[in-house]
Amino acid sequence: VHCLSRDFTVRGFFGRGNKILRAVDDVSFSVAEAEILGIVGETGSGKSTLAKMIAGIQQPSSGWVSLSGEIVASRDLKLAKPVRAKLQYIYQDPSASLDPRWTLKRSLHEPLVTHTDLSPQLREEKILKLMADLELPSALLDRYPHEVSGGQQRRVGLARVLLLAPKFVIFDEPTSGLDVLVQAAVLKLLRDLRQEFGLTYLFISHDITVVSSICDRVAVMHNGSIVEIGPVNEVLVNPKHPHTRALLAASLRIGGARLTDDPPAPRERET
Ligand code: ADP
Repeated sequence: VHCLSRDFTVRGFFGRGNKILRAVDDVSFSVAEAEILGIVGETGSGKSTLAKMIAGIQQPSSGWVSLSGEIVASRDLKLAKPVRAKLQYIYQDPSASLDPRWTLKRSLHEPLVTHTDLSPQLREEKILKLMADLELPSALLDRYPHEVSGGQQRRVGLARVLLLAPKFVIFDEPTSGLDVLVQAAVLKLLRDLRQEFGLTYLFISHDITVVSSICDRVAVMHNGSIVEIGPVNEVLVNPKHPHTRALLAASLRIGGARLTDDPPAPRERET
């Protein structure tokens, strides 16, 4: 990811005209294969805009994103579907990725119908295997999203993405709104999937405890820029930037950031 910018035109108040807001400003970093990079920062710091530009959902006003050396997002770039499928964004709200009028079966077949030429039988086999991996009973297939739990909705949303065999998955607040037990189960699942499929994650969260328990490195965003980036056990233990210190202090006040002693995952090569 290199030098991304994103300008929004914000309508001015009290007749002062339009104003340009630079939501993400000259951000540059790389993520290694099978690494989990956390992005933290207060609301409005530019995390989601950055993630959506990487995923190709929003276009940067300048700069580029490359995956394994291939440019996958830049201004005016239209990508072929198979390339696009390698880089997936998982919305914060699981219902955003599931159509309420569709059964889970239809929601799970849809990405395979759109992106592959698999026969209905092969699609079904692939879906059932992945559901078993995600501990989703096959009996749920005939249900509608509102007929399953929030944790199950998230797993189905995840299954839709994994069916496309992505390399890089961006999670936007994947554990927000979940109770702690479900939160722990989702984090375990994400760790297991990284292990099994060698996936690389960008993990956006405002929860420093969650970030410290799953991420290898963390980037701290403030006003559209990355003010500090490094291994979780360095940045969150000995923060150098005053903004990181302020974030940590606030997090400690409302419940405590707990740091993990888990060793970081092995990193192989840059993607
Ligand atoms: P975060 O994910 O860290 O909360 P965002 O990326 O959502 O931050 O927002 C960064 C900044 O860009 C904020 O000031 C937000 O108000 C602004 N912004 C985001 N989306 C739009 C938009 N579509 N139009 C105008 N401003 C936007």
